[in-house]
Amino acid sequence: MPSLNLVVLGKQGAGKGTQCKRLAEIYAIPHVSTGDILRAAVKAGSPLGHEVAAIMDAGDLVSDELVIRLVDARFQEPDAQRGALLDGFPRTIHQAEALEALLGEDGIKLCINLEVPIALVTERLSSRRVCQECGNIYKDTDIEAISGTCSNCGGDVVQRRDDQPDAIRQRLEAYERDTEPLLAFYQERGLLVEVNGDQSPDEVTIAIKASIAAKGLA
Ligand code: AMP
Repeated sequence: MPSLNLVVLGKQGAGKGTQCKRLAEIYAIPHVSTGDILRAAVKAGSPLGHEVAAIMDAGDLVSDELVIRLVDARFQEPDAQRGALLDGFPRTIHQAEALEALLGEDGIKLCINLEVPIALVTERLSSRRVCQECGNIYKDTDIEAISGTCSNCGGDVVQRRDDQPDAIRQRLEAYERDTEPLLAFYQERGLLVEVNGDQSPDEVTIAIKASIAAKGLA
């Protein structure tokens, strides 16, 4: 059976993480977020974590070679044999080319771009709070953010260091410069679909499912 390898693109704060969590359940494929893998390494204090912590705090990209190695290893795991939802990867044309080489014939089936205005993502990012344990996302006005305790798992709810204003600006600039060219990359391959991310999470999920169905993928 061909695998359902999907790329989800969109600016930071466009809702990629939220949608990928839902889609991973719907299609029974893993949510592979390079940002989550790197944050887990930083939290664990591993050598990889030490290598990337300062780069991530500043909102800069870590090296292509490093994330390509991480994704390559992740694709070897049994749960990724039926496909994966890629969130935060690829981030550069070089990464997208490496991904094509890695997957070979059974490549990316669709690239979903969550389109959200810049003012809205800036607002979403600065008010975002995240559970350090399960990754659940809250707003600064939610009870979980105010109490600092996740209602899903009891973990600590914190503001990501790269959700501070300077790092947000840096990350959005990096997105425009390095990642937006990927839209043309996937468009040329006939794989790009645009989804309006400025709707409720349920509406976004419905729109994404419709695009996947329209391509006869699931
Ligand atoms: P994210 O959660 O996707 O916004 O990623 C958080 C941070 O992890 C980014 O600002 C980068 O420092 C790093 N990172 C995550 N994915 C990548 C990637 N594909 N290429 C380079 N750096 C990445």
